[in-house]
Parts: sequence; structure tokens; C-alpha cells
Amino acid sequence: MAGLEDESRLVVHLGMTGQLFAEGAVSPRLLSATARAALAPEEQLRFRPDAHTHLRLAFRDDGPDVLLRDVRKFGKVQWLEPGQPSERLDRLGPDALRLRGSQLAAAARGRKVAIKNLLLDQAVVAGSGNIYTDEALSLAGVRPTRTAGRVSAAECDRIARALRRVMRRSIATGGSSISDYVGPDGKDGSYQDERRVYARKGEPCRSCGTPIRRVVLGQRSAHYCPRCQR
Ligand SMILES: [Zn+2]
Repeated sequence: MAGLEDESRLVVHLGMTGQLFAEGAVSPRLLSATARAALAPEEQLRFRPDAHTHLRLAFRDDGPDVLLRDVRKFGKVQWLEPGQPSERLDRLGPDALRLRGSQLAAAARGRKVAIKNLLLDQAVVAGSGNIYTDEALSLAGVRPTRTAGRVSAAECDRIARALRRVMRRSIATGGSSISDYVGPDGKDGSYQDERRVYARKGEPCRSCGTPIRRVVLGQRSAHYCPRCQR
């Protein structure tokens, strides 16, 4: 969400495959798979708006335009007039960078859902996606399938601290470029290189060597070490 000078707000949701970047960015991730395959690497140069480029934001100063590209169209853009409420923003819980253990414990009390699914609920904590919840639960030593209501206050403290740490680290490394994500300059993030469990099914746990397991919880997957996470 960007607050604009006239106090209107611009909400951009990247969805699954959204890419927000400055015009002139260079990345093979900004090409369709067929275009990527047809080009020699040295030809994968400047991005030119294509059929998947849905929005161009121009600025009054000399900065480059910002483009939104979204191949699968799960992304959303909304402009809110000054004072206009937003159901999407108003229902968001505390930001994952600032979540406190006591807030998580209060949200978990009496809940029968898996702790992983509770963490994915944006009304409980905002900004925590599939990758970062798996990683935070791994750092905290808590199994993603655990019933939320049975996670102790001390464990909620550990999970909240781990999530804050994972989010800070993801920002420092430019995010996770696993399939489509690019930074505003078109560069890949490198958080994926630090993953402890996410999408590492069958690979050895970085702490104990036990193969990482993948389970499906509702619509989402979760990855964990069966030995380190209880
Ligand atoms: Zn382990």
C-alpha cells in the first residue's frame, strides 16, 4: 500500500505471479517461458511491455515508470480515495515484522486449525505467506500441523520472534525468487538460498540431517523436519 500526496491510497496485491518493477529492468523472469527459450542469454536484455503488463505508473519527477506484470492475473490493484475504507486493509492483523507472541497466543486460544494455517490467516498476521510461515515454524521448532489452541505461550513467543527474524532476513536478501518474483530493479532475491525447509522435501534438515517432510494442510502445503519440530 502506498500513501499518496493527496491522501489517497494505492493498494497493489501481487497475488501469485505479480511483478512490480521499474521500466528498464533486466531479468529473464520478465519474459514468457517461450520467449525465454527462444533467446540466447545475451539477448535477454531490456524488458518491453508485453501482453501480461497491466499497469504503468508514471511519476512527475524524472524517475522511471513502474510497471506491473502478472501472468496468471491473481494480482489486484485498487485506488482508494482519501478517507475511503478498504475491507482488504482494514481486516489485516499486525504486520509480520511486528507480531508479538502475546498477540499470536491470543489469536490461537481455543482454535482447532493447524498453527501453520493460523499464521497464513492475514487477519491474524499480515504479510506472512507460505514460505515464511514454514521457515518461522522451523526456526521455532514447532510442527506446522500442531493444533493452534495447543501451542503454548512460550512457543507463540518463539514463533513470533522467528517470524520477525525471517521477514527481516527476507527483506535484507531481496525476497524469494523461486518462480516469478523480482525486485524493483529486476534483480532476483536470494532468500531462497537460505531456506531451511520450504520446498526442500526429502532433502536433509540443516540441523540434524533427517529428510524434510511435506504435508498438505487444507489448500496449502507445509514443510518441516520431523525430528526438530514437535
Ligand atoms: Zn532436523
